[in-house]
Amino acid sequence: MSHEVPADQVPENIEHDPEGGSLFLQIFVSMAAGVALGLLLGSRPTLLGLQTSSLLLFCQTASKLVLQLLAALATPLILVAVSHVLMTSDIKGKQAGRLVWLLISNTLIAIFIGLLVMNILQPGQFAKLPEPNVAKSDMPNVGVLDQMLNNIPKSLLGPLGDSNNVLGTIVIAVAFGIAMRDYRDKLETLVETALKVILRVIGWVIQLVPLAVFLTITHVVGKEGFEPFVALGGFTVTVLIGLFLQVSYYMARIRINSWPRPAQVLHAMRDALVMAFSTGSSTITMPVTFNCLRQKLGLREQSASMGALVGANFNNDGTALYEAMAALFISQMLGRQLDLSQQLLVVITSVVASVGAAGIPRAGLVTMTLVFRAVNLPPEYITILFAVDWFLDRCRTMVNVMGDVTVSCILDGKESEEAERIRQEIQPGFPAV
Ligand code: ASP
Repeated sequence: MSHEVPADQVPENIEHDPEGGSLFLQIFVSMAAGVALGLLLGSRPTLLGLQTSSLLLFCQTASKLVLQLLAALATPLILVAVSHVLMTSDIKGKQAGRLVWLLISNTLIAIFIGLLVMNILQPGQFAKLPEPNVAKSDMPNVGVLDQMLNNIPKSLLGPLGDSNNVLGTIVIAVAFGIAMRDYRDKLETLVETALKVILRVIGWVIQLVPLAVFLTITHVVGKEGFEPFVALGGFTVTVLIGLFLQVSYYMARIRINSWPRPAQVLHAMRDALVMAFSTGSSTITMPVTFNCLRQKLGLREQSASMGALVGANFNNDGTALYEAMAALFISQMLGRQLDLSQQLLVVITSVVASVGAAGIPRAGLVTMTLVFRAVNLPPEYITILFAVDWFLDRCRTMVNVMGDVTVSCILDGKESEEAERIRQEIQPGFPAV
């Protein structure tokens, strides 16, 4: 029997990222150019008759605009992607409940691990970033409850126009996604095309990222020198420790709640993991993940498709861990300690931002603006992370895929399909383990 992925389950709405490789190079060149110009501007009061302080301010403002564009695209992306999944996936009651519980608990553990490691190691303490030019008193100071209530949409288009209101967008996407199930034959092509169009526009904005990196690095090096980049090394190591702990948690869950041995799972999934690392996209990897689960590991079709095809659209634990860690890291560099209620807000928004992140390269950076805004961190500092994001994106994509694999293994239970078949032959009618 063939276990190829059915054609309609291959995510054809995702276009491969042929620019990915050259974008790394462009980002590296932009960084080097930013460091050079930043050092030059930092060492003198004027350049070519212009005040260096105004040049640095210009760099900061211009880089902010690119981030603003990415943030503007985040809510439409979430609206269309989530309603598309809800409209097209085939999930039944009890199984859906189990899947949702697994997805939420794994993501919460990921964020908890991320925050714990970041609070203990504090790599952001080794450098200072300047506060942006907005006076603290200008920033809205609202409590967690108020922020939650603000997420209930006041109007249908409101959350879409306000890139901060991702929860409101999800509420609308879920309602409309479910309502659209009955009109699937008429709407499917339309929604799929809308998703393609949004992804294409995001692709255009991503082309501006090297410019934003150049401007941010110039501004930061011009004002602060090299310190923030030394801290980035610490950030990378800290994130890798967090991701490693998350994978250890997956292995423990598989050992306890599922029939295959963890080493067997890693061995069977190696094609999918290598592909996740090389493409930086869990969605492009999805068909390979599914095939490895079915053919190499031997999970039941139902469990493999629930975890790797349905769950994968919501399940981005590596991204959630990364977004929460990044928010804490930047707040440490700014010398602001996020208190418990603010960290709780980071948890909530990271869950939502990771659900909203498409499984494509660097998608986590787009939705990260939502986490930053929720706790009043300046989103323009996300560009600092771009220097290491090309590498960390690939690592967290592997963890995202491992999350889908773990969910599939747990759904498959403690007895393999083969063992169940043999047992049924010996003891017909005996319930599954
Ligand atoms: N690249 C990741 C993925 O495809 C998403 C992210 O940017 O975190 O899973």
